[in-house]
Amino acid sequence: MRLTDLGIAAARTGLARRDFSARELALAHIAAIEALNPRLNAFITATPEQALAAADAADAARRRGESESLSGIPLAIKDIFCTRGVRTTAGSRILGPFVPPYESTVTRNLLRDGAIFLGKTNLDEFAMGSSTTSSAYGSTQNPWKRKQNPEARLVPGGSSGGSAAAVAARLAMGATGTDTGGSIRQPASFCGITGMKPTYGRCSRWGVVAFASSLDHPGPFGRSVEDCAILLRSMAGHDPRDSTSVDRPVPDYEAACRRNIKGLRIGVPREYCVSGMAAEIGEMWRAGEEWLREQGAEVVEISLPHTKYGLPTYYIIAPAEASSNLARYDGIRYGLRVDGEDLIDLYERTRGEGFGAEVKRRILIGTYVLSAGYYDAYYLKAQKVRALIFKDFSDAFQNVDAILAPTAPSAAFAEGEKTEDPVMMYLNDVFTVPADLAGVPALSVPAGLDADGLPLGLQVIGPPFGEEVVFTVGAALERAAGFTSLPALRAGEVLR
Ligand code: GLN
Repeated sequence: MRLTDLGIAAARTGLARRDFSARELALAHIAAIEALNPRLNAFITATPEQALAAADAADAARRRGESESLSGIPLAIKDIFCTRGVRTTAGSRILGPFVPPYESTVTRNLLRDGAIFLGKTNLDEFAMGSSTTSSAYGSTQNPWKRKQNPEARLVPGGSSGGSAAAVAARLAMGATGTDTGGSIRQPASFCGITGMKPTYGRCSRWGVVAFASSLDHPGPFGRSVEDCAILLRSMAGHDPRDSTSVDRPVPDYEAACRRNIKGLRIGVPREYCVSGMAAEIGEMWRAGEEWLREQGAEVVEISLPHTKYGLPTYYIIAPAEASSNLARYDGIRYGLRVDGEDLIDLYERTRGEGFGAEVKRRILIGTYVLSAGYYDAYYLKAQKVRALIFKDFSDAFQNVDAILAPTAPSAAFAEGEKTEDPVMMYLNDVFTVPADLAGVPALSVPAGLDADGLPLGLQVIGPPFGEEVVFTVGAALERAAGFTSLPALRAGEVLR
């Protein structure tokens, strides 16, 4: 077996047994990035020297008998997490020259536990998108190919498409992402890997470039449910520097992956049966119910009546918060500056040249819904509907332990197929947005392939701080699905 094919759990065992060193593990991934990143564009910035130095430090620590839960494990970091001394762009030209003088809490936690960072991954500009095509640093390619038409360049989903593509193609063992409206789960589904969005407040947002503060959820990607559990345990925890971070102990998520689902009640929301969803997705969803029943769970139909308001609510609240958060990019304090004739001219030129089209569209929507005449009609109304969506989930969780749904209404699409139409793009988020609005944990696990040979994910949603039951049910689906298919482009494969 190639070192790049190992999962985190297996690599940890191999490192502990001295089957290989952290340096060898890092070198294998660095070689894979060199070979494949020119095709995939999964990384904006690769940091091989830092990775090797950290790997040597991990090997030295192990020789001294000191090792942590992630000692020597090579990871990719979405380029929205500030990393000290390493350029952090958020996929935007406006942050092109920005080198943070501090480390985000989530990445600091991973470093504390011995993780090795291979570099910073590509994303839609400021995490606004579902395709990783709106980055100022070029689009990322999905390593999976259509059987019939392998020439088509498929999107990896987004916004965390670089992280998902890197993990799927074996350029990294795991990765970080952020999920504001689906940006961890949807790219995980498109790339045939697992992604976990924890409860709002479970992972600190400190040092994560803000998109929509009340919706931004950092979380992990892995090639198994267990690997996501290992990563989340390190990433999560209370942080006094984030006022919305929650102070409660971080459970042993790995242990949760080994629990059985006997007697659990699983809800299937009838409103998630939307028109336009690929038939195969409906079939896979039915298969998922069957897999859970066979393992002893009881599957019941539930209702989340406000589901249809999820997208319009999200596309008011997210741009509103974004327009406020993005006001800080003025060309004065950090990042790009384009000089002008006076201060106003400098602001306008900097923001005009620094932001891409999608970001400008969101700022326009956001400032409109927050403006004096429209605040009550749009923003305040959206906040009220958001409360109803949360109530849908809390009512449902009176009755069921977890919810089973598809992750996305389609498999990966090709660049240009939907990416030109903003409304089509927004529809991508129909199954993922409600869990962000409600702040509840949700995971996507690969469950099968469509007729084109592309991966499809199933989603498990849990109650607030119900990460353990989400991991338990996710692992049960994973066992039954037995998903072992591999993407066309991956480390060690001869490139065509
Ligand atoms: N696709 C959604 C959007 O464009 C969600 C993005 C995200 O979760 N960061 O806003």
